[in-house]
Amino acid sequence: MKFETVAIHAGQEADPATGSVTVPVYQTTTYKQDGLGKTRGWEYSRTGNPTRHALETSVAALEGGRYGLAFASGMAAETAVLSILRKGDHVVAGDDLYGGTYRLFEQVFRRWGISFTYAPCGDPAKLRRAFRRNTKMLWLETPANPLLSIADIAASADVARSRGAMLVVDNTFASPYFQNPLALGADAVVHSSTKYLGGHSDVLGGAVVTSDKALYEQVKFQQKAQGAVPAPWDCWLVLRGIKTLPVRMREHGANALHVARFLEGHPAVEKVFYPGLESHPGHSLAVSQMRGFGGIVTLRVKGGFRAAEKFIAALELFTLGESLGGVESLACHPATMTHGSIPAGERLRRGITDNMVRLSVGIEHRDDLTDDLKRAFSRIRKAS
Ligand SMILES: *Cc1c(COP(=O)(O)O)cnc(C)c1O
Repeated sequence: MKFETVAIHAGQEADPATGSVTVPVYQTTTYKQDGLGKTRGWEYSRTGNPTRHALETSVAALEGGRYGLAFASGMAAETAVLSILRKGDHVVAGDDLYGGTYRLFEQVFRRWGISFTYAPCGDPAKLRRAFRRNTKMLWLETPANPLLSIADIAASADVARSRGAMLVVDNTFASPYFQNPLALGADAVVHSSTKYLGGHSDVLGGAVVTSDKALYEQVKFQQKAQGAVPAPWDCWLVLRGIKTLPVRMREHGANALHVARFLEGHPAVEKVFYPGLESHPGHSLAVSQMRGFGGIVTLRVKGGFRAAEKFIAALELFTLGESLGGVESLACHPATMTHGSIPAGERLRRGITDNMVRLSVGIEHRDDLTDDLKRAFSRIRKAS
């Protein structure tokens, strides 16, 4: 079946009990057992819930994986994956990462005796050099946040495999519509379903997908033991979002390319980062491993922090806010918002300058979006 059909049907068969066409919200914590040791497959909702199971089946199918697990947030999904490591283990990670992931590595798991080394995600040779005897995991985000760097998933999978480590890819930015890391050799995919999978800025969620049974069992154990599961109602919202994922992603992608080209030609812009632009260093790699380039565009505004601040303040349609991947356009200032937990020196080393603005391009009409940007740029000029 094709992606559009999978998005609507996988895990979402009519309810066997009533015929309900949408998966019911099984708002229950427990299930009647027919006798000692005789369950109908459900025992307690932390362990398993039919609405969550539908979502897990759906996300697994979208990623082309055998097993899916849903979590209360993207961070909960990441925590469960990292929790399969042991004290003394080492992780190599791409250095263009979601700020919260970096914080989880450095401020939570480092205290538990796990160490992390960062290397440019787009350079498999440098990633390889960062490996140590005790490296158990290679963690990449691609396209990464906020510079949209592209990691070579297949080459990185080879690096990890040759060192007996597993490759985890955070596929939040591409969404399964544009990229399937498992098919390129990744061992596990993580998602913040809060973003494109949910798609409407109204629900938090996370997911892990793998085709490796042993890995699935380990992460499932963490899901049950740690308990960061999503509520049935939240699973239902993500499922509803997923049905329109392909249509939304096509619009996000087309609008983002339009916005990126507009920005590239604008005199107030110092630099634009979008993998769909030929000028992007990861462009050809993105063409080879993705089916589109996503909806996030990052730019540097000429004139430093003050200019970026004025530009953001002048935007009317793009709402200043954290997060991304919803139908409405958002603007964010990585240095003070999403990446504020990264120390300033480290942030600059990664290229996250104070004049950087990240746009999550929504699915409004593209002309209204570029008009808003145009107007905001003209106000910086007037104000300075
Ligand atoms: C938002 C995000 C996360 C964290 O997900 P939450 O749902 O906010 O916990 C992880 N990775 C990426 C790339 C994200 O954008």
